[in-house]
Amino acid sequence: MKTNNLGDMPKEEFRRYGHQLVDWIADYFEKMEDLPVLSQIEPNSLRDNLPDTAPEKGEDFSDIFKDVDELIMPAVTHWNHPNFHGLFSTSTSSVGVFGEMLTAAFDMKAMLWRTSPASTELEPVVLGWLRRMMNLPEVFDGIIYDTASVSTLHAIAMAREKLNLDIRKKGMSGRTDLPLLRIYCSEQTHSSIDKAVLLLGLGTDAIVKIPVNDRFEMDTKQLRQEISDDIMRGHKPFCVVATIGTTSTTAVDDVEKIAEICRRNEIFLHVDMAYAGSAMVLPELQHHLKGIEKADSIVTNPHKWLFTPFDLSVLYVKDVDLLKQTFSLIAEYLKVTESVTNQMDYGIQLGRRFRSLKLWFVMRYFGQEGLRSRIRDHIRLAQLFTIWVEMSEDFEIMSETTFSLVCFRACPKGIEDLDVLNERIMNELNASGEAYLSHTKLNGKFTLRLSVGSIRVEERHLKKVWDLLRKKVSRKRAKGHKEE
Ligand SMILES: *Cc1c(COP(=O)(O)O)cnc(C)c1O
Repeated sequence: MKTNNLGDMPKEEFRRYGHQLVDWIADYFEKMEDLPVLSQIEPNSLRDNLPDTAPEKGEDFSDIFKDVDELIMPAVTHWNHPNFHGLFSTSTSSVGVFGEMLTAAFDMKAMLWRTSPASTELEPVVLGWLRRMMNLPEVFDGIIYDTASVSTLHAIAMAREKLNLDIRKKGMSGRTDLPLLRIYCSEQTHSSIDKAVLLLGLGTDAIVKIPVNDRFEMDTKQLRQEISDDIMRGHKPFCVVATIGTTSTTAVDDVEKIAEICRRNEIFLHVDMAYAGSAMVLPELQHHLKGIEKADSIVTNPHKWLFTPFDLSVLYVKDVDLLKQTFSLIAEYLKVTESVTNQMDYGIQLGRRFRSLKLWFVMRYFGQEGLRSRIRDHIRLAQLFTIWVEMSEDFEIMSETTFSLVCFRACPKGIEDLDVLNERIMNELNASGEAYLSHTKLNGKFTLRLSVGSIRVEERHLKKVWDLLRKKVSRKRAKGHKEE
């Protein structure tokens, strides 16, 4: 019974509910497959079931916990489900959950070394492990942020600072001495670039979207042309964002060529491999990193495809002093005498979560070998699904399967509007709760995206999706013929 109005939950209660909670999570992971992938609730139905004010008197944890089952669970879309194939399939791991539990228990704010020696010292070690595993050059220092959007924001802020235009002090407004600053990325680049530009006061007019070739890779000739045109106009090209593994199709930009263009024009190069970075743990895929040593910064998200719970994004930078120069501001109460790294100097946050702990757990528990074999198996499954699509008369591949994303669509003979057909198939499948696929538009065509990335995914899960899709197509075809 809750009677005490001071102090924390009594320790016996913590122990009891703690064990129950871990059991609950274990059951959740075990029974995951029986749950609908996408939440089946109507919008606002959770909100409408909750009171407007917090309870005046504290409640028993058992009552709170009951509502997790009754109210929260129906409103959960299960990202960990092996048939979650939409967007990018990402999942946690049990050991990653342990990491999060301990991080919450310590609740440290990594700002100064002295407030969080564990975070300040573990983070560079774990990021060194990851860098070596991904075969990135030693010159890159890593720092952890929450998401790739935030990592990229920091990278573009560094690129702006590198211009030495005194923007840190004078800002950009009301100045006639600044040229138009220009940043280049492909049409397939993630929208986080646009958001960073919004936030940095550069304005979306600063972005030049370079067209892509038929493999959805940045057209480097166009990039060179746009940069030289801008220079002629008196604009100042300051940053290029290349992508290894675009969000739509996982296309890989030619980093080597782009880096050469950047070098010649003294432009900062940021490489976004938020998703595909994890695949770089496989030596057989590291050829995609060609030219990476010439990049100024790289982002990769272990929370996407390295079985680390959300959130954990890594920004690797070549010039860590430039990152510090961009963000360091030291208030009197934060001045210290030790000569140590203080993580608050490397980004917009003052306090930072102890995120490296969960990645350390994941890398130690699975080992390099275990991580490689899991990623390799996901790629094998995506290749297998690709073969099924290619062998079928009713489906076609829409872009190359480079990592573990398959872009494809149904194209049965005798059905006119394939966009409508594919959208319907996707919506029906998603509504059924059996699996979740998402879509993109490629050359104007509605394209289905199937991503493989859950730690629980097996061949039978892909077989299930494939059977469901084929059944839907044959049913549509039968119906189509009847209507004719
Ligand atoms: C997912 C993704 C992002 C955004 O990731 P967040 O961590 O959610 O901000 C950026 N770039 C690429 C290529 C991505 O795939």
